[in-house]
Amino acid sequence: MDFNDTPEEAAFRAQAREWLAANAPDFIIHDGEILSDAEQVARGRAWQARLVDGGYAGILLPKSLGGRGGAMMEAVVFDEEEGAYHLPKDAYIGIGLGMALPVIAKHGTPAQIEKFAAATLNGDITWCQLFSEPSAGSDLAGIRTRAVRDGDDWVVNGQKVWSSWAHHADWGILIVRTDPTVPKHKGMSFFVVDMKTPGLEVRPIRQISGLSDFNETFFTDVRIPDANRIGAVGDGWACAMTVLMGERLNQGGEGKNGGISELIAYAAQTPRDGGTALDSSAVRVALACAYAEEQAEKYFQARLRTMVSRGENPGALASVVKLAYTNRYQKTSGLALEVRGPAGLAPPAGDTETRRIQYDYIWSTALRVAGGADEVLRNQIAERVLGMPGEQRADKNVPFDQL
Ligand SMILES: Cc1cc2nc3c(=O)[nH]c(=O)nc-3n(C[C@H](O)[C@H](O)[C@H](O)COP(=O)(O)OP(=O)(O)OC[C@H]3O[C@@H](n4cnc5c(N)ncnc54)[C@H](O)[C@@H]3O)c2cc1C
Repeated sequence: MDFNDTPEEAAFRAQAREWLAANAPDFIIHDGEILSDAEQVARGRAWQARLVDGGYAGILLPKSLGGRGGAMMEAVVFDEEEGAYHLPKDAYIGIGLGMALPVIAKHGTPAQIEKFAAATLNGDITWCQLFSEPSAGSDLAGIRTRAVRDGDDWVVNGQKVWSSWAHHADWGILIVRTDPTVPKHKGMSFFVVDMKTPGLEVRPIRQISGLSDFNETFFTDVRIPDANRIGAVGDGWACAMTVLMGERLNQGGEGKNGGISELIAYAAQTPRDGGTALDSSAVRVALACAYAEEQAEKYFQARLRTMVSRGENPGALASVVKLAYTNRYQKTSGLALEVRGPAGLAPPAGDTETRRIQYDYIWSTALRVAGGADEVLRNQIAERVLGMPGEQRADKNVPFDQL
């Protein structure tokens, strides 16, 4: 039992732990196990289907949407318990659950919810996020991909970039410019797009790691039915904010990447100067700080998720969770390498755990950019949470086509 659990939470934790122990091992990605992208996605879909069978998928989603209709603390407890296993839940699953579902549930029509909610929860449909463009990342409202109405369809032309897992996605969530004659935040609309639509081309980007988990996505006269528009024409920014808030809020939590408990256990077993690494006061202080940060982040995240479940909007507070998590993740994975001493730099053959932590360390730098770079999140927190003076925005009320 977690020392903070109420009796009801402890009972739920015991039930979830037992179910996970019986079901998760078939799906775990073991240390050193190399899966192709297609194998990962297939395993991720299968794990989602198993979660649905067990009644643990979409814990916060209402039963009418195929979810469990559960309480916030159940979601937090299940996340913690599930986080103890290395399961296939990368962006190929996370984008559907954490971004597509919330935006469709909040801004979509009953027919759209019916079509996509259960299928996404089951893992039958996977999603990608088609937001960033070569000249619009931090300034997402600068997008240039255009959609023009033609009868019952919209015709889309332009380019997206950094589209994670688009090469394996069935559907994409897409923001485009539908009216360039109004200021930039007002002229955008939001769609879901079938990734097999003619004219839509996904080109993988080869990364330094040798992997290609993100892509450039080109649109040439891609026809999207108006029935696939989410929200009103011109309301794209509000939809995008729902997506980004979900993305930021769902980062982190205890036991997720960079979890401290494992690291404390590792330090306690690692020989150092006749004792263990945990005997070093410097290591203890670093671990204690990281633990305190992890706990603060966990409870702050739970508080904001509770606001969302009550229909309140945490707004820029969600940026605090993302900023805190990605910075701690980088610090903790760096610390995990330091505790290993020289083996952290050059692990002995077969030490797949250290190789994974090296990967974590590199990946944590990317996460400080993905979904909102540190500097941009700090600006948002300064302006919208702390009420500090805003940045100069000369383009704010100028029609987009006159910028
Ligand atoms: C691993 C990863 C996965 C991603 N997956 C997706 C995806 O699936 N779909 C998708 O659409 N996008 C995705 N992205 C793109 C991501 O959203 C953008 O990289 C991010 O928004 C930053 O945009 P940019 O890369 O264009 O950088 P820029 O916006 O050009 O920023 C460059 C630098 O300038 C700084 N900067 C910019 N504006 C300001 C400002 N106003 N004040 C202070 N500093 C500023 C930034 O902090 C940053 O350090 C992914 C990115 C990464 C790293």
